[in-house]
Amino acid sequence: MIAWTMAHLGEFELIERYFARPARRAVLGVGDDCALLVPAEGMNLAVSTDMLVDGRHFLSTVAPDRLGHKALAVNLSDLAACGARPLAFTLALALPQADPSFLAGFSRGLYAIADRHGCELVGGDTTRGPLTIAITVFGEVPAGGALLRSGARPGDELYVSGTLGDARLALEVFRGNAAASSEAFARVRRAMEEPQARVDLGIALRGVATSAIDVSDGLAGDLGHILRRSGVGGVVDVDALPRSADLAAQSEAWQRECLLAGGDDYELVFTAPADRRSAVAAAASTSGTAVTRIGRIEAGAGLRFVDGAGREVIGPAASFDHFRRDPVGPAP
Ligand SMILES: [Mg+2]
Repeated sequence: MIAWTMAHLGEFELIERYFARPARRAVLGVGDDCALLVPAEGMNLAVSTDMLVDGRHFLSTVAPDRLGHKALAVNLSDLAACGARPLAFTLALALPQADPSFLAGFSRGLYAIADRHGCELVGGDTTRGPLTIAITVFGEVPAGGALLRSGARPGDELYVSGTLGDARLALEVFRGNAAASSEAFARVRRAMEEPQARVDLGIALRGVATSAIDVSDGLAGDLGHILRRSGVGGVVDVDALPRSADLAAQSEAWQRECLLAGGDDYELVFTAPADRRSAVAAAASTSGTAVTRIGRIEAGAGLRFVDGAGREVIGPAASFDHFRRDPVGPAP
């Protein structure tokens, strides 16, 4: 049984129908007030919460199953950035109405990614209101073994997984600021709506990476968190940044904007000592994740950008900040 606490939604049966499944791993009392989780011996519990709000974190045009996927993926991405293995999650859902076709699609997408990562829904809450999805994930990581933002050291090399910028490109096509063929748009839209959490890579990087963060607000801003927390500076080769063929077909200015300040990528950016290149390659291979070396950590502070020839280039305006920029309004 799932430990749901119900608010004043009349459609209790609907919620039970779409979200109640027998618990497998969690230790909890049937119909009790709390889910009880027991991490394995020697492991720390890793906990993270992310909230998605209609019109701010997703567009109303998104298919319900993709929204279910993304709601959990963005949370799993935070576990990945810590090198934690997913265990369980809770779901708090505000719905304008209990629409059976929305709930069927949403729960299908949610459970598909949950099952893929062995992450179990153990509780939640629901109420009537503007569509809002808040998920808290619980994972486990060896005590003292979590990947942190604070461990980067001068001389470390900088890496990123996958490709960057497609989600932002999709948003700009939606906004009418960029153009793409219908096939290209379908691909970048999928990157925006169905991001992959790099959980296996994060786990494989335990003991290899010296710091890590997931790219949710844009590479420049998120890497800035590592630099500040570690008390170091960094240099990124913008020409080395991995990008899809669809993004590479855009203008140089759009490419740099999407690569450096795009947001919603959910790739991992991490650092590792220069003599651990083969260990990074092994982690990439074990996890089946492409990893690209994009720069290095240096003494000092701040982030510099260079091109492939080593010339300094100007960085992006600002990384994504939900309180400063309207994600579905006009481009800055
Ligand atoms: Mg994060």
